[in-house]
Amino acid sequence: MSSPIGQEELCQKNLIAAYIDGELDERVTLLFEDHLQSCAPCRAELRAHRLFVCELDAALTDTGEIPVPEDFSRMIAARASSDMSGVRTRSENRKALGICVILALAGFALLGARASGAIFLLAEKFVTTSLGVAGFLATAVYDTVAGLAVIFRVLSRKIIIESGSLVPVLILLAFAVLILSRLISNYHRTGATE
Ligand SMILES: [Zn+2]
Repeated sequence: MSSPIGQEELCQKNLIAAYIDGELDERVTLLFEDHLQSCAPCRAELRAHRLFVCELDAALTDTGEIPVPEDFSRMIAARASSDMSGVRTRSENRKALGICVILALAGFALLGARASGAIFLLAEKFVTTSLGVAGFLATAVYDTVAGLAVIFRVLSRKIIIESGSLVPVLILLAFAVLILSRLISNYHRTGATE
C-alpha cells in the first residue's frame, strides 16, 4: 500500500506517538519530518509528548532511583481525607468524581478496544501457562491505571482550583488517555514477543 498521506493524517497524534516509538517506516518518517518543518502545532505536540513520556517513563521504570518525597503518601492520604471530610465544596467533589469516572471509563474502553483481538490469546495463555502471567499483566495494568488516576486526580484538583475551569483538565485527560493507550500497546508488544 503506497497511498499518499494527506496533511490531516500527518497531524494525527497517533503518528506522533508512533514517530517517537520509531514505528514509522522510512517513507512516512521522512514525510512526517517534512511536515514538522511547516506545522508548528505538531512540533509543539511532539515536544510536549516527548517531555511527558520521558517523565512518565522515568517515574514508572526508575521508581527506586527517583527521590519521592518521604511524606508523599502521607500527603496524598491527608489530601484524600480532607476531601472526604467535606472541606472542598460539593460541586468540586462532583467534578473530581466525574473526572475519575471518565478516566476509568476511557481506560476500560481503551482496554476493551485494544484487547478485544488479543483477549483470546491472553485467555489461552491464562489456561496453558499459569495464573502468574495473567496475574502479572493484570497487576501491571492496574498499577499503571491506579498511578495515573492518583497523578491525574492531584493535578486536576490543583488545576480546577487555580484556574476555575475544566478545560485544562480535559486536555490533561486527553493526554492521560493517550499515554495510557501507549502503555497498553507496549504491554501487548512485550507480551507478544515472549
Ligand atoms: Zn501537523
